[in-house]
Amino acid sequence: MTKIKFYSGLREIGGTVVAVETDKAVCIFDFGYAFVGRLDESVCTRKGHEAQDFMRLGILNRIDGIYESHAAGELNLKAYGETDKKYFAIISHMHIDHMGGLGCLDPKMPVYMSNDSAKLYKRMGVMGELEYREHENIQPMEYDSTITVEDIKVTCIQVDHDVIGACGFLIETEDGSICYTGDFRFHGFHPDVSSAFGNKCKGADVMITEGVTISFADVDMLSLEGPERTTSEYTLLEDMKERCRQEDGLIVINNYNRNVERIHQMIHALAKEKRQMALDSIQADYVNAFYPWDDFVVYIPEGGSTNNPSLREKKVIDRNELLTNPSKYVLQQNYKNIYELFDLKDVVSVYLHMDGAPLGDYDPSFAKFQSFLEVQGIKNEHVGLGGHAEPYYLRKMADIIAPTTLVPLHSFRPEQFNTEYAKEIVLPECGQSFYLENGKLVKE
Ligand SMILES: [Zn+2]
Ligand SMILES: [Zn+2]
Repeated sequence: MTKIKFYSGLREIGGTVVAVETDKAVCIFDFGYAFVGRLDESVCTRKGHEAQDFMRLGILNRIDGIYESHAAGELNLKAYGETDKKYFAIISHMHIDHMGGLGCLDPKMPVYMSNDSAKLYKRMGVMGELEYREHENIQPMEYDSTITVEDIKVTCIQVDHDVIGACGFLIETEDGSICYTGDFRFHGFHPDVSSAFGNKCKGADVMITEGVTISFADVDMLSLEGPERTTSEYTLLEDMKERCRQEDGLIVINNYNRNVERIHQMIHALAKEKRQMALDSIQADYVNAFYPWDDFVVYIPEGGSTNNPSLREKKVIDRNELLTNPSKYVLQQNYKNIYELFDLKDVVSVYLHMDGAPLGDYDPSFAKFQSFLEVQGIKNEHVGLGGHAEPYYLRKMADIIAPTTLVPLHSFRPEQFNTEYAKEIVLPECGQSFYLENGKLVKE
């Protein structure tokens, strides 16, 4: 018997939590925060009660067999190790809506993710960028490798997304196969990797797919004849090279620091334009972890220092260097350091908002961010790409896999998802369970 339970993240973007349960094991994916709008950064969780507070908010799900005994006990749940089945989690990628809750799991519970995700996760822990605490039992997987936990087999299959290490999974039990796409796109550096995911999962009984880009407007997916988008990571690189030729001052970019490959590619593209990337210490650490031979400098604001041993070989520059030679650099800057621009704005030619936080209106910081740039008179442009496949490619992926049952989620309007190649489309409600029988989902 294989049961699939959909906990959360169905009609929202974030917090996808699904469990595949057999007679012997339970596989949970992913483990980010749901209903994140209920979180208020002005309020702290209580020490030693983090998981419980998140569960009471509904941001984490009440699930037996995954939390520490004190947390589970407080909420009348069975703790990790107290159930007769083996519990484990698989994580598609290092975006907070897919992994933010990891620190709340029992530290001994096995959590599988790609090698690259595990490497990034480790560095996020070192650099203080994790929510709550670092999970102890991370099990890295090679792409295309398979693990077996009791009677559940899981294969980690790479996809292209705007974070390094992203993958989806093919989960197999004696009752059938389930593929989970995670988040993916076709306008990144590796559209072939996303296509390959489709081919490797072809014929899966159940396909659980993201549907972010059909969230915001009416879309008739069946009528789409081709992609609308003309931009990609490659056009963004070309755009940056052109700007380096046009602008005679400092170019500042606000990117998302877990999209490590973008910065890596930019370092190489800009070298030809005689500009060097100046990275903040966290971004520098992430790039160095994956591409140790990349030639960049580390920007340390006044009063700061870097004692990161991994960056010992890298050249460090200060504000004076940027003020003296602004046209030699592209400065990568996290929003939290934006007050640096009080002292740099006279040499800034353009500020490029490039998928970094705050991303849009839904973030309470967004209006403040825009007003800062306006008041300081800093020319700025939005040149972000996002990480999600446009509707044409969402359908293409489903067409290739052609599952018996399609389950679109991770979308405000999953009911818009359509393909001629799935026998049925199921839209579960939060908390609903199904049995997998002959490739079909049967309500519990
Ligand atoms: Zn997502
Ligand atoms: Zn994502």
